[in-house]
Amino acid sequence: MRYQRPRGTNDILPDETPLWNRVEETFRSLCKRYGYHEIRTPIFEDTDLFTRSMGEHTDVVSKEMYTFTDRGGRSVTLKPEGTAPVVRAYVENNLAAQGGVSKLYYITPIFRYERPQAGRYRQAHQLGVEAIGSQHPALDAEVIALAMHFYREIGISRLSLVLNSVGCPVCRPVYRERLREFARPFVHELCEACQVRYEMNPLRMLDCKREKCRALLHDAPDIIDSLCEECRAHFDALRSYLDALDIRYVVDKHLVRGFDYYTKTAFEIVSDALGAQNALGGGGRYDGLVEEIGGPPTPGIGFALGIERAIIVLKELGLAEARRETVDVFVAALGEEAVQPALQLLQQLRQSGISAETDYQRRSLKGQMKLADRLGCRITLMLGEDELAQGVVTLRDMVTKEQRTVERETAVATVREMLSG
Ligand code: AMP
Repeated sequence: MRYQRPRGTNDILPDETPLWNRVEETFRSLCKRYGYHEIRTPIFEDTDLFTRSMGEHTDVVSKEMYTFTDRGGRSVTLKPEGTAPVVRAYVENNLAAQGGVSKLYYITPIFRYERPQAGRYRQAHQLGVEAIGSQHPALDAEVIALAMHFYREIGISRLSLVLNSVGCPVCRPVYRERLREFARPFVHELCEACQVRYEMNPLRMLDCKREKCRALLHDAPDIIDSLCEECRAHFDALRSYLDALDIRYVVDKHLVRGFDYYTKTAFEIVSDALGAQNALGGGGRYDGLVEEIGGPPTPGIGFALGIERAIIVLKELGLAEARRETVDVFVAALGEEAVQPALQLLQQLRQSGISAETDYQRRSLKGQMKLADRLGCRITLMLGEDELAQGVVTLRDMVTKEQRTVERETAVATVREMLSG
């Protein structure tokens, strides 16, 4: 093979796109029900947008971004996540002027130079929402409820919601110091990455996947105990709302999420049907991000859910019926003379909302019937020498195998009647 798809990317083939569409359409219709509007942002942005917002010392920014210099000498980056671009668009287009909370959703590819494995790719796809303009914990509850509702709606019910608060610029520095103090005696036993994190971004030590680091940090101080009054009240209110909505969750003090911009609420949705990469999606509050990106101080909260991982779980659960859509009508042309009237018939059928297919490979009648069966056609319309001479078509009901002759002018109406009956 001369060419292969780039490592860590996938071809989503026609057998699979119906499932992808089902997932995306479910998300779209739920977003609509919850009052979110679609936004689409460019595939690439100024590199600086991601470096500033996500934080220089995060894994994604320090080693996973697809960054290149364009022909004008600018550093640009394929978007590694969806939030910063949406917030950039919110600020740049002054969406705040519309008043109220801006409730936005997106469906986007993301690009991260990660080591590919099951459930982890270099181009992945996310469904996300961002709700910008309120710090009320009721909005956190709505965003989480929407994510949970989405999974229920596509058929994934065995999952867990993991919740934490990562504090704010008032209380997080205090916790950061407490955590450093706790880790100081054994910092040299931590993995290399955690030793850097210890200096630069100590909270990230908490979600290191290495056994040794996990064990050493097992009894780390609880961030919840360090929250300032405001953050604690926010967290308590959110918990009570989730309880009232019957949304179950577990609090995990080790959940910190990957990016620096998170404040207060952090959450992740995990499934045991996934392997090591067990997060279906996650999100959190980012009350400083709009300001960081150049807008007025404006709070916000959002999430991103991985489409590939949802699909892995659906397959695992046997809920991924991967069948192509069927075609209503097959038009069989017998002989070159019949090709033009067959094309006209196809056009009439399609223009009146009926899906229709024909043969382009000069198959025999038998071959065309086989093809019609394979496409799942309910009806075949046959055009041969006799039909042409008489201005009729032969209509075959593919289920009952009955055949009859109908006038060519009335064929489309007859087909429509049969299909709706
Ligand atoms: P994150 O914001 O990094 O937590 O990403 C949110 C979700 O997107 C994750 O929980 C995954 O489901 C999905 N995701 C992120 N990165 C990848 C990747 N490299 N490959 C596949 N899915 C991903």
